[in-house]
Amino acid sequence: MMRALVVTAPRTAEVQEVPDPIAAPGQLLVDVERVGICGTDVELYTGEMAYIDQGFTHFPLRLGHEWAGRVVAAGSPEDEQWVGQRVTGDTMLGCGHCAYCQSGHHHVCPHRFEVGIRDGWAGALAEKFVIPTRFALRIPENVSLTAAALVEPGGNSLRAVRGAAIEPGQKVLVLGSGTIGLLAAQFALAEGAEVHVGGLREGSLALARALGVHHTWQLAELSAGRVDEFDAVIECTSNKAMPALSVQLAKPAGRVVYIGLSSTPSLVDTRDIALKDITAVGILSASPGLAGAINSFASGAVVPDAIVSEVIGLEDVPSRFEGQRGPDAGPGPKVHVDPRKVS
Ligand SMILES: [Zn+2]
Ligand SMILES: [Zn+2]
Repeated sequence: MMRALVVTAPRTAEVQEVPDPIAAPGQLLVDVERVGICGTDVELYTGEMAYIDQGFTHFPLRLGHEWAGRVVAAGSPEDEQWVGQRVTGDTMLGCGHCAYCQSGHHHVCPHRFEVGIRDGWAGALAEKFVIPTRFALRIPENVSLTAAALVEPGGNSLRAVRGAAIEPGQKVLVLGSGTIGLLAAQFALAEGAEVHVGGLREGSLALARALGVHHTWQLAELSAGRVDEFDAVIECTSNKAMPALSVQLAKPAGRVVYIGLSSTPSLVDTRDIALKDITAVGILSASPGLAGAINSFASGAVVPDAIVSEVIGLEDVPSRFEGQRGPDAGPGPKVHVDPRKVS
């Protein structure tokens, strides 16, 4: 048996003893060493996540999709070389057969599982879990455990920055100072941009400056009639007014990247996009950015560790879903979990 966090009903979660998972052929069994919790996990915990209404997922839920660990068993003899390797993995487990999967877009496969999110694939908030070998990625030993468990949000942020097509010296605004925003700011700095971050919490904005961001703004300052200021705007908030503001703040012929999701419709007037010749890009998943994020963390081009505020045990996860923070938590937006830690 092993310990796993189980969300049994909306706003009800507990650590339970559950049977050890077993790697089937084509799968790897992983000892989980670190897991991040994010906004998607909170929405699943509260029952507000759209997939629940859409029937793509249901209680009880086993969460955890931002993880790092070590392979302890392989379900197929040809995968034995994975045993002992340090890994993370793709969240989006495409079917492998449809036109999307075969053209490299498995993250939008209509038949996909999402680890710890969709269609009942048990997540990493547990001592062990299994993943398909074809979705595992090796992590070099010189990457810290903290950074290793930031590869998944890192892949999302890297894709957002790629979507902004930044050239060195260009002025880029990242809206939002949560995990995705701060990581996007770090990847944009690595591209040589002049990086600005807009947010609400002064602690996060101070952290952004400490990470090298050139200028930070309160969102209210940015919405006070400013226009045409940035070559690219990367929208990473859950604020429904920010997508339209992003178009307003982008220079004509600039780019706007949408990765943030609000809980109610976030409307944009497409006339503003057309009349300014804006290129707008939407980003759903980290999948095509995971390898690049690992490379940036391994080379030291991006050092993301300061984004993590605390490392807790499984027992403390429900309190964090309810918005509490530990007494020793740092200023970073991301909470990490070590499932081996018993409090
Ligand atoms: Zn996440
Ligand atoms: Zn598919």
